[in-house]
Amino acid sequence: MSNTPVSKRSAAAPLAPALHPSLQLAEDTPTDAYAGLVREQLALLGEDPQREGLLKTPERVAKAMGFLTRGYSMTLSDVVGDALFEERHENMVMVRDIELYSLCEHHLLPFFGKAHIAYIPNSRIVGLSKLPRIVDMFARRLQVQERLTEQVAGAIEEVLQPRGVGVVIEAFHMCMMMRGVEKQNSRTITSALRGVFRDDAKTRDEFLRLAYASHH
Ligand SMILES: [Zn+2]
Repeated sequence: MSNTPVSKRSAAAPLAPALHPSLQLAEDTPTDAYAGLVREQLALLGEDPQREGLLKTPERVAKAMGFLTRGYSMTLSDVVGDALFEERHENMVMVRDIELYSLCEHHLLPFFGKAHIAYIPNSRIVGLSKLPRIVDMFARRLQVQERLTEQVAGAIEEVLQPRGVGVVIEAFHMCMMMRGVEKQNSRTITSALRGVFRDDAKTRDEFLRLAYASHH
């Protein structure tokens, strides 16, 4: 940044008039409006948005952000569809190591890791492939890990009305790692326990033992 001859302020100024018309298009062409913001962001960083390597960056970022936040346009009923089944299964159902990628809402930087989900049915089960999709629906929004964990548990509760549900998420946060705020390899672990997972120690212990088994 220091080797650029243009100050941050003067670099940004010529772009402002071009930006505002595209912002007014926001409702019709959100990608263009977002790209315009990214162009201004690049200038504010002291970059030259017109140099070759950055020319298409605003459009790329706009597309990428659309993908990374696509969970906003998904609903639980879309995601689960008709994959609900009546079943007299009374033992724990668990899907472990569900990959997740999200963006922290405080820094718009990625956090990523794994979710472990278990529930004890109350005469209703869901197709197993739907659990990762439920995680994805909430992860592809701006998030904090604690809320993401609660939302996944709440969604499963809503869809299945199970006897209990447990969700553990373990994730690495780039906003901590890249900024050197915490130890570089620290993993944040959150859990949400509902129904028998909260009230019954034996169920809770079994779930947590299975959830953490991957590390031992
Ligand atoms: Zn953050």
